[in-house]
Amino acid sequence: MKSPLHLRLLLLAIAGVTLVPSVSAQKQLSGETRIRLALEELNNLGSVMMIAAHPDDENTALLAYLARGRHVRTAYLSLTRGEGGQNLIGGDQSDELGILRTEELLAARRIDGAEQYFTRAIDFGFTKTAEETFTKWPREKVLGDVVWAIRRFRPDVIILRFTGTPRDGHGQHQVSAILGKEAFSAAADPSRFPEQLKYVQAWQAQRLMNNPAAFTDRQQTENDAIPEKLELDLGAYSPELGYSYNEIAGMSRSQHRSQGMGTAERKGLLMNYLVTLSGDKARKDIFEGINMGWSRLPGGAAVSVLLDQAAREFVPAHPEALLPLLAKARQLASAIATQTKSPIAGRKLTEFEETIALCGGVWLDAQADKFEITPGGNLRVTLTALSRSPLDAQMVGEKLAGIPAVPNVVIYPGALVPNKPFQYSVTVKVPPSQPYSQPYWLEQPRDGSMYSVPDGQQIGDPENAPVLSAEFRMKLGGTEIVLTRPVVHHYVDRVYGELLRPLAIVPPVGIDFSGTALVFPDTKSRRIEIPVKANTGKASGDVHLELPNGWKAAPASQHFDLTGADEQTTVAFELMPPQADSQGDARAVAMVGDRRVSSDTRVINYPHIPAQTLFPPAESRLVRADIRTLAHNVGYIEGAGDEVPAALRQMGCDVTFLSAADLLHGDLSRFDAIVTGVRAFNTRPDLRANYQRLFKYVENGGTLIVQYNTPEGGPNNTAVESPALAHIGPYPIKTGRERVTVEEAPVTFPNPRLPLLHKPNEITSRDFEGWIQERGLNFASEWDPKYQSVLESHDPGEKKPLPGGELYTRYGKGAYIFSSYDWFRELPAGVPGAYRLFANMLSAAKTQ
Ligand SMILES: [Zn+2]
Repeated sequence: MKSPLHLRLLLLAIAGVTLVPSVSAQKQLSGETRIRLALEELNNLGSVMMIAAHPDDENTALLAYLARGRHVRTAYLSLTRGEGGQNLIGGDQSDELGILRTEELLAARRIDGAEQYFTRAIDFGFTKTAEETFTKWPREKVLGDVVWAIRRFRPDVIILRFTGTPRDGHGQHQVSAILGKEAFSAAADPSRFPEQLKYVQAWQAQRLMNNPAAFTDRQQTENDAIPEKLELDLGAYSPELGYSYNEIAGMSRSQHRSQGMGTAERKGLLMNYLVTLSGDKARKDIFEGINMGWSRLPGGAAVSVLLDQAAREFVPAHPEALLPLLAKARQLASAIATQTKSPIAGRKLTEFEETIALCGGVWLDAQADKFEITPGGNLRVTLTALSRSPLDAQMVGEKLAGIPAVPNVVIYPGALVPNKPFQYSVTVKVPPSQPYSQPYWLEQPRDGSMYSVPDGQQIGDPENAPVLSAEFRMKLGGTEIVLTRPVVHHYVDRVYGELLRPLAIVPPVGIDFSGTALVFPDTKSRRIEIPVKANTGKASGDVHLELPNGWKAAPASQHFDLTGADEQTTVAFELMPPQADSQGDARAVAMVGDRRVSSDTRVINYPHIPAQTLFPPAESRLVRADIRTLAHNVGYIEGAGDEVPAALRQMGCDVTFLSAADLLHGDLSRFDAIVTGVRAFNTRPDLRANYQRLFKYVENGGTLIVQYNTPEGGPNNTAVESPALAHIGPYPIKTGRERVTVEEAPVTFPNPRLPLLHKPNEITSRDFEGWIQERGLNFASEWDPKYQSVLESHDPGEKKPLPGGELYTRYGKGAYIFSSYDWFRELPAGVPGAYRLFANMLSAAKTQ
């Protein structure tokens, strides 16, 4: 386990902007190393952007080398936020998972020193080809977003992680390189995406390079064989930081906890390769032939001279002595910025002000008395300025920004006494019209596999701008500087110490009416209970349902009274489905006074990220379809977490979660069927230990259904020996990596007379309509002839049939079924056919 002390030392050493874990208070850990790095960065005008498809595709060691070792402005552009993956640390999926992965990337960037950007493209799951990816991602739109990112960031060098060929595997990986190559020249062409030129200029990066990923041994061997490559030791040690870049990469990469990316902090040589694709060929250095200094701007050489002098004269115990030099350099830089209108010079001015504050021992803080507030409410904000150097320091004024049309401008001049906090508090009235803090890319419904972002200028931002920020204008040793800090809420946790939470604007209540579809297997009405929770204080109102045609609810509305923050109640409705099959969306609406609320309030909270708030629409899918099952009591062995049990309950099953003790000596004979959850054999040693009892249960007449598990070993191996999966069936089954990624791929029945296809539900091709994301993954690649294949499916264009997605065998008096189809996605989504197929599996021992 990594101790907080370790993290603290790390940050002291690598001079991160905020402390890791970032939920800890926003500590500006100054010190010698930090000031040295700031001086180096001020004197470097170079920049580089890495492009790939997902959180975790980035070469963290290369990012750390560039940002921390070469002091260039460094960015990672990930086409997606990784919303299509699996979450190894909690139940958050889809939109929530995208937010979690965004924050993990930002946590990683705080360690390796790079910046983070995105496009609007959504990770919709695995694809085998670039063509398949482009059927989901409109090519021009995603290209436009990459061009926008380049024009905004203006990198000297662009580095692609992939090659744009089938070697990359995942179709989205291929696309990241195909579009990266295209964007390299399109960004420079004013006739491409001219609408962007209102805000940015066309930009020609000087060099396009490929840093081919080596995720497998085969890829590593291929990389070793590349001719004319630039070689780089990313295991190089930085005496200044006390770490090698690859060590920093290990710390950074380990922030990808939802992907289980915990990585060793390796020391020693690590050779990496880069190949020039466009621009002058780099032979020895990534930035060969590129002027990285101030002299690239007219009149800039003089700035470099002053900054070199500052670096030479830096005395760690007296950083304030650098102030006159820095002030002079900033004045020159400011004149250059005015004359040249160069965005890079403009950006450097902010860096100058931060470095001056750093050398002057200045600490600034803007604190809210709460972390969430409803529109119309009042907020107390305390601004603190502290100067910890002998320099003469004056506050000239303070101002809050972010909430428009509020009389919250504060001017409060005064002298700062060294090491004595200068504090000022102000009450901010949040206007009733203030929008909620929904992440900007979730404000509107998705447009296919792209986010809808009405304000084009926000595209690519990793997260929302702070709700409120404070601007501090001060004079330090005679130099006026302006510094901005976000308004955040600090609190002290008795276990973890001082923590912070971003400020969020929230509705008065949250209605939990989203997630798993409501499935009605027959015409019986059902009572549904909808939780309503007060967010910030007292809240009363009425909830009603807006239903699709043919559906009815009683009563028409339900009243609720909540007397304080976080108090919760439920409102109940009797929901009556139509006679015939029907599907549609229902919406729950709370009227609180004249405010209409139709969303939940959800907080994503993990120890390694700052808590994030979002407002999923209070909408549920309603499905009426005839689904018959003969299984009443079902035992569920939960794996990595899935919503299948809730779906089984909707079919009328009683679901019991089986513990380690149940598996060891519980009475299993009371279950009509036992189901292992997603990746249960990977995650549950107690399941692996007790497999013999489960097969005994089948032998005695039970039904066992095993959902998908992940084989261990390299991703390119299709059949590997996985000790954890040695006993997933009563006869040998080898789990492979075959998958069917096209959700419309035809499904056929290799053994059409199997009862699984007829009883109690007659299965037809209609049952494979309306599936989402994919058909299934990690199909069996080899199996004992005693199994019979139930379903066959393969992606269009692939010739090889894949009958290993669902296997059945009679075992003793019972039935065993291996099924790698996507039940964990299709059941929560309310796909009627998936319910019918699963109901037949649950009933297998009784119908065979
Ligand atoms: Zn990837």
